[in-house]
Amino acid sequence: MASKASLYVISGPSGVGKGTVCKALLAREKSLAYSVSATTRSRRPGEIDGVHYYFLSKEEFLRRVEAGEFLEWATVYDNYYGTLRPFVLEQLEHGRDVILEIDTNGALQVKKLMPDAKLVFLEPPSEQELLHRLVGRETESPEEIAKRQQCLAYEMSQKEYYDYAVVNDEVERAVDEIRQIIARRRSE
Ligand code: ADP
Ligand code: 5GP
Repeated sequence: MASKASLYVISGPSGVGKGTVCKALLAREKSLAYSVSATTRSRRPGEIDGVHYYFLSKEEFLRRVEAGEFLEWATVYDNYYGTLRPFVLEQLEHGRDVILEIDTNGALQVKKLMPDAKLVFLEPPSEQELLHRLVGRETESPEEIAKRQQCLAYEMSQKEYYDYAVVNDEVERAVDEIRQIIARRRSE
């Protein structure tokens, strides 16, 4: 009998490569469903509403919190971010494994609600390389980058609560490691 669908949570510090690794992972594992989060942060150039995020006003976000629409939500770097519950539950019910790309506080909320979820902490090869990637992305102001750097030590300290830690040294290698985690889970 096929094992039931699983929820995988990918998190780690800003700029480590979560978005890049998730995109490459989804290209390889077509059966995975990606949960598009809602956020109140402003849209970056090239980001599409409903594809990268659902971009909401603070009022709309809080209305949805009140309506119980989020599986988890958190304030991250001064904005709200949340996972839409109906999408995740529907996919799992239909037997599809789901990927969430969320911050460390959200990840631990998910683990409490759904202890079977597998938490993957994506870590940088070094702090210097992380900063290099964050600056090189050219999407945040120096103030925004400083804010993200201030959270780094706290975010790294959360690694111990995760089921797996994967170093994002090379995208393809990190993706292969996550694929092995998924394959092991599917064969349980
Ligand atoms: P996050 O989603 O964790 O904030 P991104 O996926 O946006 O991070 O990646 C941050 C920057 O680092 C991007 O410019 C991306 O192209 C780059 N990057 C991601 N993974 C790697 C890697 N393994 N090696 C080198 N650069 C990377
Ligand atoms: P960014 O603004 O760089 O896209 O994301 C900032 C942070 O918010 C990242 O750590 C990202 O993983 C996190 N994030 C994105 N979506 C969600 C979500 O739905 N819930 C939570 N808790 N964090 C999220």
